[in-house]
Amino acid sequence: MRAYADGRASMSKHQFTTESLHADRREKPEHGVLHKPIHTSVAFGYEDAREIAAVFQGRKSGYSYGRQSNPTVETLARKVTGMEQGVGSICFATGMAAITATMLSLLRSGDHVVASSFLFGNTNSFLGTLQNFGIEVSFVDATGVAAVEAALKANTRLVFAETIANPATQIVDLEGIGELCQQRGLLYIVDNTMTSPWLFRPATVGAGLVINALTKYIGGHGNALAGAVTDTGKFDWTRFPNLYPTYKVADTRLWGLQQIRKKGLRDLGGSLGPEAAHHISVGADTLGLRMDKACDNAMALAEYCQQHPKVRKVFYPGLAQHAQYARAARLFRKFGALFSIELADGVDCFDFLNTLDLVVTSSNLGDTRSLGIPVAHTIFWEMGPERRASMGIADSMVRFAVGIEDTADLLADFAHALG
Ligand SMILES: *Cc1c(COP(=O)(O)O)cnc(C)c1O
Repeated sequence: MRAYADGRASMSKHQFTTESLHADRREKPEHGVLHKPIHTSVAFGYEDAREIAAVFQGRKSGYSYGRQSNPTVETLARKVTGMEQGVGSICFATGMAAITATMLSLLRSGDHVVASSFLFGNTNSFLGTLQNFGIEVSFVDATGVAAVEAALKANTRLVFAETIANPATQIVDLEGIGELCQQRGLLYIVDNTMTSPWLFRPATVGAGLVINALTKYIGGHGNALAGAVTDTGKFDWTRFPNLYPTYKVADTRLWGLQQIRKKGLRDLGGSLGPEAAHHISVGADTLGLRMDKACDNAMALAEYCQQHPKVRKVFYPGLAQHAQYARAARLFRKFGALFSIELADGVDCFDFLNTLDLVVTSSNLGDTRSLGIPVAHTIFWEMGPERRASMGIADSMVRFAVGIEDTADLLADFAHALG
């Protein structure tokens, strides 16, 4: 057996996709099934009343109630742990549920957070909400570690960053921030959604916790919402001041997850359902194959757009003129499946999107289909023109979340729409 309780998984001798494909089977699932079944039972019965007491008291591993854990969901959590090569994971109903539960269970009033200013819009909005509950947040241009260091205070509890920012694809100083957090004993949380563990593992730059919106590339088919937090084992929880004594039991590496599971998942209740967990788990099997194809398509389209006179600017980390090209090339297996363009003057972004046939106008990313959206008029509308300008979001910007269509077809579709 290579699997442990609580979403843990051991290091493996196999490579990424092989390990993921065989992860369910390693747990010796019921009846020898090759895919973990969808267990819909909310509760779990015990023949020995002493045993349920032991489970509740944490002396024995087992299931108590579906809001805290479920066999189908735990199998997915172990798969995610394996992909990130962490020590454990907890799954949630959405990526936002993973982020909010993690922050709300680890932070207290009076604490300070340093966050990248290039964040997923809803994460940015949530950090604003935290400020109304007495938690200070400093947003900094984290493409250089100096700004992060300058923002640190005595009450800083964690630093939060993403890998590739959406929609302008900035890449923060992932390594520098990791070293800084290591020196200062600070918790470093990286949202790995845009890269997924196939392109990058935040553990390699010292992140203590990794967030994945499983809704996106890991699930990969736009058919289920889910999120996860993974502990990489890199953070020394004995140095974290906000843990309750009841959760400081057994393996110190699991203290943080214990508190997130109890305070974040159990109390807040953003639990992942077993049907969605099954969809995500099946999707995760092909993460590496899909992601490679989507990244190659994005590269081909970004290069095509770059030389097109009707495109003013292309934002893609795989292009040599991108400000963080060298960083992306050093850290990531490929350059991601998301790119944005600014159209030349006189080209209407709505007409352009309406002329594209294969690219569906939609706000998601990480689907098998290619999606495009006029970001200033939709996702970033609520922020207002000043904040948009500060984030480098022009009115003519169109963001593409590239899918796995055949490359030639996508290129022809772009040529037609820009023609
Ligand atoms: C989509 C996304 C999330 C949130 O995931 P949901 O499952 O939609 O809640 C968080 N972070 C990033 C970077 C995302 O792209």
